[in-house]
Amino acid sequence: MTSHPTGDELSQPTPPTEESPSSYIPGRLLHRSFTHHPASVLSAKASTLFLSDGRSILDACGGAAVATIGHGHPSVLDAISRQAQDVSYVHTQAFTTPAAEDLANLLLEGQPGGLDMAFFVGSGSEAVEAAMKLARQWHFERGETQRVHFVARQQGYHGNTMASMSLSSNVARKIPYQGFSYPHVTHVSPPFAYRYQRDAESEEDFTNRLVQEVEDEFLRIGTDKVIAFVGETVIGATAGCVTPPKGYWAGVQAVCQKYGILLILDEIMCGSGRCGAPFAFLQEDVQPDIVTVAKGLGGGYAPIAGVLMNRKVTDVIRNGSGAFVHGHTYQAHPLSCATALEVQKVIRRENLISQCAQMGKLLEELLRREIGGLKSVGDIRGRGLFWAVEFVQDKNTKAPFDPKIGFGVKVQQDAFERGVAIYPGAGTIDGRRGDHVLLAPPFNITRGELETVVEVLRESIMSQEALHG
Ligand SMILES: *Cc1c(COP(=O)(O)O)cnc(C)c1O
Repeated sequence: MTSHPTGDELSQPTPPTEESPSSYIPGRLLHRSFTHHPASVLSAKASTLFLSDGRSILDACGGAAVATIGHGHPSVLDAISRQAQDVSYVHTQAFTTPAAEDLANLLLEGQPGGLDMAFFVGSGSEAVEAAMKLARQWHFERGETQRVHFVARQQGYHGNTMASMSLSSNVARKIPYQGFSYPHVTHVSPPFAYRYQRDAESEEDFTNRLVQEVEDEFLRIGTDKVIAFVGETVIGATAGCVTPPKGYWAGVQAVCQKYGILLILDEIMCGSGRCGAPFAFLQEDVQPDIVTVAKGLGGGYAPIAGVLMNRKVTDVIRNGSGAFVHGHTYQAHPLSCATALEVQKVIRRENLISQCAQMGKLLEELLRREIGGLKSVGDIRGRGLFWAVEFVQDKNTKAPFDPKIGFGVKVQQDAFERGVAIYPGAGTIDGRRGDHVLLAPPFNITRGELETVVEVLRESIMSQEALHG
């Protein structure tokens, strides 16, 4: 039976038990888990987090690929303070601010990939919802009101709100919510070579098979029923930094264009410089119609996300009804926009995207050299400063560990005890089997710090192999 708190318990928190860290005092905040209490962070500087129990943690995953310039950057702190003094909030029905205007102009300077306008919201899930509605409205304005369907991919993540969750195939996060989904979504195979490319298949064969599957799915649904194809340019947390085979995005785009279907690229995790280019799609031969960005956009200094759209999209709405039928109280929030604007200026001023590309090469080299030979390391993959290590029980057969072990989480916990934060993932292969850990440090992480990260990762993997191998 669940016991409900009495008035006494409300005012007298129970003392910490042996399982909980000494710094933890049970309070009113609902954490992700009722049993696992997160470490309390009192301050942070650059790539290091300082905990309330005196320990410091080197953050090798930027939270969840969020921190791009590290913590406590003086010019961002100044920008936040200046904006707070200038104007904290206005409603976008009647007002705009230089911060929001400047952020859109800076991000879309030179119209990268033909991207024409930006719409700012507060989180990645909100951005995906907005992208879905924008794509639907685009067809609606063109009189194609029968289009209601989205095609996404297995092993992709697009958010946790109801429609964005429907696009996601992250099985564990959907289990309690069966029947809640937006019904018109189907999923095709992920462009995930380590698991899904057949032995006899060349990279080109693999690409062709995947693109054919997309076209077959459009034909099965009815090509005049599909609104958009949605995918992460480089797959993030769900499968672990999976880069597509050569020609994949160009092939998918050609099929979309053939049937008047829009292409939405979700760059919430892989974009904003993370892969070593301003947008991940710039490293692929593709011009998306709509792009979502979030995590790295504000670098963790403010909650902000963006929906960026091509001229083809804005023209139809501009010349049609003239308004995007969507909005939020906090859209284009001045504080969030001013913060993200300065984060993006820092990235340009300090040349951090090319630094990300360079440090990424070093990280790859270190990973391949230091852990590539370990017996549980099946695959090392990624781009820029966005890398994942997939674990296997048997390297030859690629057989994964028993999911009950939670090998990726064990490695993450072990590394945390050694002072390095990495991001674990489970269900790497199909939502149930497979383990990986993800590395996504700030772009200005130092060479020495990267060496420490890989050294600790090596120790943690070896110690977990000894326990579970
Ligand atoms: C994190 C993420 C989202 C969701 O963003 P939230 O800010 O957590 O709502 C959507 N798509 C991708 C690819 C992500 O990595």
